[in-house]
Amino acid sequence: MITEKIQNMIIELAQECEKEDIGLSICAIDRKGNEESIGIAQVGTEGDVEASISYQIKEWEKMLEDCDCSHCSEKLALLNEVKNSEDTEVEEEEACQ
Ligand SMILES: [Zn+2]
Repeated sequence: MITEKIQNMIIELAQECEKEDIGLSICAIDRKGNEESIGIAQVGTEGDVEASISYQIKEWEKMLEDCDCSHCSEKLALLNEVKNSEDTEVEEEEACQ
């Protein structure tokens, strides 16, 4: 459960980052129970938030790479597929200019 304490900590962290001019993107998730609940905060410039999400994806990728189970291998393969298709799209966009 995303408790009030966790919610307040997320808000406090977001406010502190904003005060110090630091970009932040954070999401706490609880998928137990009947309804999924999340605590989320994003502060800073659009570029900061984007970079933060990008680092999170890289961390997640490392997590998938470090695990030997078939579930993580499948996810990693999917992730690489998406990456490769994005690369193709970028090339197409560049070709149009
Ligand atoms: Zn795994």
